[in-house]
Amino acid sequence: MNRVDVAVVGAGIAGLRVADRLVAAGRSIAVLEARDRLGGRLLSHEGIDLGASWFWPNEPRVRALIEELGVDTHPQFRSGDAVYEDPRGVRRLEGNPIDVESGRFSGGAASLATALANRLPEGTVRTTSPVTSVRVRGTGSDTEPWSTASTPAGIELGGPSIELHADRAVLALPPALAVERIHFDPPLPEDLARLAAATPVWMGATTKVVAVYDRPFWREAGLAGAGVSHRGPLREIHDLSGPGGRAAALFGFAAPLDQWAPGDPEGQVARQLVTLFGRQAASPEQLHIVDWSRERWTVPSRPASPDRFDLYGHPAWRSPTHGRLHWASTETSPAFGGHIEGALLAADLAVEALLGSGPGT
Ligand SMILES: Cc1cc2nc3c(=O)[nH]c(=O)nc-3n(C[C@H](O)[C@H](O)[C@H](O)COP(=O)(O)OP(=O)(O)OC[C@H]3O[C@@H](n4cnc5c(N)ncnc54)[C@H](O)[C@@H]3O)c2cc1C
Repeated sequence: MNRVDVAVVGAGIAGLRVADRLVAAGRSIAVLEARDRLGGRLLSHEGIDLGASWFWPNEPRVRALIEELGVDTHPQFRSGDAVYEDPRGVRRLEGNPIDVESGRFSGGAASLATALANRLPEGTVRTTSPVTSVRVRGTGSDTEPWSTASTPAGIELGGPSIELHADRAVLALPPALAVERIHFDPPLPEDLARLAAATPVWMGATTKVVAVYDRPFWREAGLAGAGVSHRGPLREIHDLSGPGGRAAALFGFAAPLDQWAPGDPEGQVARQLVTLFGRQAASPEQLHIVDWSRERWTVPSRPASPDRFDLYGHPAWRSPTHGRLHWASTETSPAFGGHIEGALLAADLAVEALLGSGPGT
């Protein structure tokens, strides 16, 4: 069986951050990623964001990481008027009260994950490696007589394509997904399993729609590309163009597709964008509709109660489960929960706990 000091489950930004910091601390690491790509909810197609896209001025870890990795960024475009749609029609607002000051990753948000992964030792991230079982042998307590020749203390991680032994593991995926997809032996403490199942996945009930055009025609009409709609399907719309308006794109957040009016989602989007931004919006060069509620490596099949964001950063995630399992996803973060910054903070806290305690460190 393969052996490493620490196995990280999930190559989202949290898992990659954990790996990066533990490699720097001299640990041997394997990152096991279910998908055939890394980045998790940082998903970019030809530089266009289909998952996260913004960072904000009050986020120190994201800023520091951008600088450290030399990732290109540009400010979110905000100039011009916004639009507002309700059942009575569309109004042009004076100015743009919808967008706040924020930054964007010029190569797409996934470029942050890729840049971080690129400096890990070759072979650290193993894609197409879903973890389906986690067996903990020895609780990690110094007093426990856990080690025997036949069952060495530590963690055995299993899946269709993996068999790995580690001293510690970091579960860098949404807790609700972990409890649904991974068989834990011994089982997770009941309270923790209940907490995990109840903790919603950030953006797990959102469809992101991106329309790419040959040029940002709305800017020529003095529009910021920002809008709010009470008709839908897009409820909140923003400019998603690259630096200098290239590639030109608008994006909107919408409900999961099964809550849309039946039939022709592409047509519904195009008609709404025409209503909001004019006839030139009718024929995007590309139209991406990503329903994150259908992403099986992001959202469990029985989603948690959608409004329990108060459970984010629960103190239970701070102490290692069975003495050896650490938790790090944006949902476990005590601040900035839901954001990239939260994922980085959760990762840093897990690393501190792991380096600061117990055997196998
Ligand atoms: C549409 C959308 C828009 C967003 N907008 C923003 C934004 O503008 N700004 C912002 O800061 N944040 C935004 N977010 C949130 C941001 O993307 C997340 O906070 C962040 O990416 C979470 O990182 P993570 O590593 O905690 O989790 P994830 O990115 O979910 O990573 C978890 C990883 O674990 C893997 N995995 C799952 N199960 C297993 C398994 N059993 N075995 C192995 N691997 C597994 C997954 O494939 C995934 O790669 C947005 C998210 C979405 C979906």
